[in-house]
Amino acid sequence: MPSNDLLHRFLFDDCDVRGEIVTLGDSYREVLSHNPQQPAIHRLLGEFLAAVGLLSSTLKFDGKIILQARGDGAISTIMAECNHHNNLRGIVRLNSEIELSEDIAIQGNLQQLLGNGVLVITIEPQRRENFSGTIERHQGIVPMDADNLAGCLEHYFSQSEQLATKMWFAANEESVTGFLIQALPQQLITNEEDNRDKWETIITLANTIKSDELLELDHSTVLYRLFNEQPLRLFEPKALRFACSCSRERSADALLTIGKEEVESLLVEKGSIDIDCQFCNQHYHFSAEEVRGLLGGDVLH
Ligand SMILES: [Zn+2]
Repeated sequence: MPSNDLLHRFLFDDCDVRGEIVTLGDSYREVLSHNPQQPAIHRLLGEFLAAVGLLSSTLKFDGKIILQARGDGAISTIMAECNHHNNLRGIVRLNSEIELSEDIAIQGNLQQLLGNGVLVITIEPQRRENFSGTIERHQGIVPMDADNLAGCLEHYFSQSEQLATKMWFAANEESVTGFLIQALPQQLITNEEDNRDKWETIITLANTIKSDELLELDHSTVLYRLFNEQPLRLFEPKALRFACSCSRERSADALLTIGKEEVESLLVEKGSIDIDCQFCNQHYHFSAEEVRGLLGGDVLH
C-alpha cells in the first residue's frame, strides 16, 4: 500500500545529503475533481502539488509556498500551493483559443502542455496585523529549460541555491509521489572528493527506482529498497491535506475590487451576485442588499 498524504524527510548519517519523499492520494484526487480532466493535465498538476509539498518543508516561517507556471500552450496557468498548516490546493486554467490534441491530452509533458512559458516559485509570508517584521515575499524565476518539472527545478536549485538536487515524480489517476535528494552544505565530510563519491553512490541507487514502485510502495519500503546499505535516519512524517483558504469575507473583498460600475451592471442583470471558488467550488451568494451594504449603500438600480 502506498503512503497517503504523507511527507517523510530523511538524512544520510555519513554524508552531507538529505532527502524527502511525499505521496498524495486523497488530497490529489480532491484537487483533480475541481480541474480539467485530461490525464496528462492530471499528472502535471499532481507533480506541481507534490513539488510544493516537498518545497514546503523548507518554509521557515508562517506563510505559503506557491509554484506557478504560465504559458502560451493549451494550459495558460497551472498553480499549486502549500502553507505552513500543510494545506494544499491547486488549479489549472486552459487557454480557450488552443485546442488540446488527443495525443498531448494523454501523454503531453510540461513543455507540450504549456508551450513557451515561465515558472515561478513564490514564498509568501502570512500577513499579520500589527506585524512590523522584515520577512519579505520572495520570488524565484525558474527557466523552463527542461521538458519536465523535475528537470526545471533541478536546474533552479543548482543555479540559484548552489545545491545539487535530483527529483523524481510519478503520477497516475490515484496518487502522485515526489522524491528529492539534495546535497547539503559540507559539514560531516570535509574532503570534497569523498563527498562527491557518496553523492554519486546515492544518486546511482536512487536512479534505480521505478515509477511503479514510487506509486505502489510505502515510503519505508522505497527507502529500504534503495538505501538498505546506507545509514539513513527517517524522521516522523507530516500529514498533508487538501484545504482551501477561500472565505465569504475574501469573496466580498474580491467583489469590491471589480469596481462599482461593473458590480452595478451585474446587479441590474441578475438581481444578486454569485461567486464560485475555482479551487474548491465553494459557492458564495450575495443578495442585492448585501452588495449594497458592502459598497456603502449607493448602488444605483
Ligand atoms: Zn475555495
